[in-house]
Amino acid sequence: MRRLLERFAYFMQGRYGNDALNNFIAVSFLIIWAVNIFVFNFTATIVLDLIMLGLIALMLFRSFSKNINARLLENRRFLKIFNAVKSFFTLNQKKFRERKEFKYIKCPHCKAQLRVKRQKGNHTVRCPRCKSEFKTKI
Ligand SMILES: [Zn+2]
Repeated sequence: MRRLLERFAYFMQGRYGNDALNNFIAVSFLIIWAVNIFVFNFTATIVLDLIMLGLIALMLFRSFSKNINARLLENRRFLKIFNAVKSFFTLNQKKFRERKEFKYIKCPHCKAQLRVKRQKGNHTVRCPRCKSEFKTKI
């Protein structure tokens, strides 16, 4: 067993290994696998099997790839999209949680998200990012 691990470590030398994108592919694989258990349509099962096979192939290809720069670039592109989606949901979750106390408005100059207290009336807001002032009604 130990020799096998040593051989594997030797094999992995100079190869890319694992990253966030591969973890995401693995999670997608598990989700499709779980969905596939409840799919009884023959054609749909075949399609899902093929997608799963493709995901495994992609994961193995990326892990064993010796073109480390290309894989790093892929991972960076993935993280950029993933983090944008994640922060979108985090912000909306926060907006919903604080909906009674705060209102979120966009700065008309720099488009920054600003959080203002929910107090009825006309207010002058000063954007902390671009320092410009504008009027808003709550
Ligand atoms: Zn601003």
